[in-house]
Amino acid sequence: MNNKEKYKIKKVVNAFKCLRCGHEWIPRVELSQLEGELKEKPRICPNCKSAYWDLEKKNGTKKEVKNNGK
Ligand SMILES: [Zn+2]
Repeated sequence: MNNKEKYKIKKVVNAFKCLRCGHEWIPRVELSQLEGELKEKPRICPNCKSAYWDLEKKNGTKKEVKNNGK
């Protein structure tokens, strides 16, 4: 460690990760909220704009292919 960088500290803050695109971001909230409980979660992912960013896809990424009926 470099003593000249004593001013650098690490802080654990609340951040979010989009389960759809994997984007990670820190919400713009008050500092107290960053370290405590967040009152509300973001509505959409700032990257993919998905409103379901906090929900994992149930069936994974594979699409069901049904060509037998044609
Ligand atoms: Zn996303």
